[in-house]
Amino acid sequence: MHLSPSVHSRLATGVIRTTPLEGETTVSWITRWAARYHLPPGPYLRAVLQQEGRATVSGRSGLGTELYLNTAARERVAAYSRIEEQVLACVLPAWPLDLDVLRHHTGPAAHWQSPITTYTVASVMAGCLKCTAPRSGGRQVWQYRGWHQRVCRMHRIWLVGGEPGYTGLAQIPLDHLGQGEAARVLAAHRRHQDLIDQGEMAAAAWQWARGAIQHLYTDQDSRPLPVSVPWNRRLKALAERAGCGVYRPWDIIARDLVTYPETLALASALATAADQQRAAAPQHFEASLTEALRRLTSLNTTHGVEHLARWLAQHTREELQRWLSSISGDRTAVPLNVPALTWALKRRLSTAGLSRTHEPVGTG
Ligand SMILES: [Zn+2]
Repeated sequence: MHLSPSVHSRLATGVIRTTPLEGETTVSWITRWAARYHLPPGPYLRAVLQQEGRATVSGRSGLGTELYLNTAARERVAAYSRIEEQVLACVLPAWPLDLDVLRHHTGPAAHWQSPITTYTVASVMAGCLKCTAPRSGGRQVWQYRGWHQRVCRMHRIWLVGGEPGYTGLAQIPLDHLGQGEAARVLAAHRRHQDLIDQGEMAAAAWQWARGAIQHLYTDQDSRPLPVSVPWNRRLKALAERAGCGVYRPWDIIARDLVTYPETLALASALATAADQQRAAAPQHFEASLTEALRRLTSLNTTHGVEHLARWLAQHTREELQRWLSSISGDRTAVPLNVPALTWALKRRLSTAGLSRTHEPVGTG
């Protein structure tokens, strides 16, 4: 890409300094930085890394990608950004990662690929706009966050777990659930931190619980939800208050929110089952679930809690066994996969032209 002489000279002198935010994805930072030169991130990166007119950049930039750099590229980018490498390494989680694909390059080299995440840093999420705007000039910031960090308590916002580059809805005000439900989510969120403090096992249990609950929710044809499960009611209220109707990928985003307290309860019961193998017996697991639902979901009827615990225990029996196998070292036992937002978004883009409301709530 040809850059105008003025852009090149500003680039070279680094007069525009864009500070990264804590936990930000490298691509989010570069995108914000490039935008200040009115450039997309790809051409901007090439301009920074080029040597004798050529830049070594592999992989495809776009929806759902993160940017990885080798040592020489990190030095180059840091020099242009006018920010010390140690600072960037502390703030940008992907910055210090050395990918095999970049190791054999001696000059500056970069690679685009899906973000690498772990159990504890579970996903890339849109940062709360109100929290980040003062430092990002109002631009969307994407951050690595744990699932227990999905709520901005200060602004009562549910943050969208998605992919860098996703341009749709980035956050849902909790009050769109109604005051009572918002309070329940906030109460569950406080307890989520306690669960995470129990260690990596509990963080892994969350992934399993999320997979199991999302599959139960999207399989309503063969396994209808009991009346005591209020997920559909919550989703409908959320859509009405948001004034948007239930469409993709909004429903995929919203499902995590409307199932949040119950997912937390299941994660807690799975973590307990891992601690006390006896809880794997069906009656013990149901008792453990009843206790967790009572404690974490603020459901106020004994009958409702017991009914839900029975239903959940019955439908997650296989998942429980696979979870216990996985912590005993069975590498073939992995959590159920939750449909990615990128997938939903691509599908939506491929059907562009359809009215949003024409797409019904489906199985994802
Ligand atoms: Zn906030």
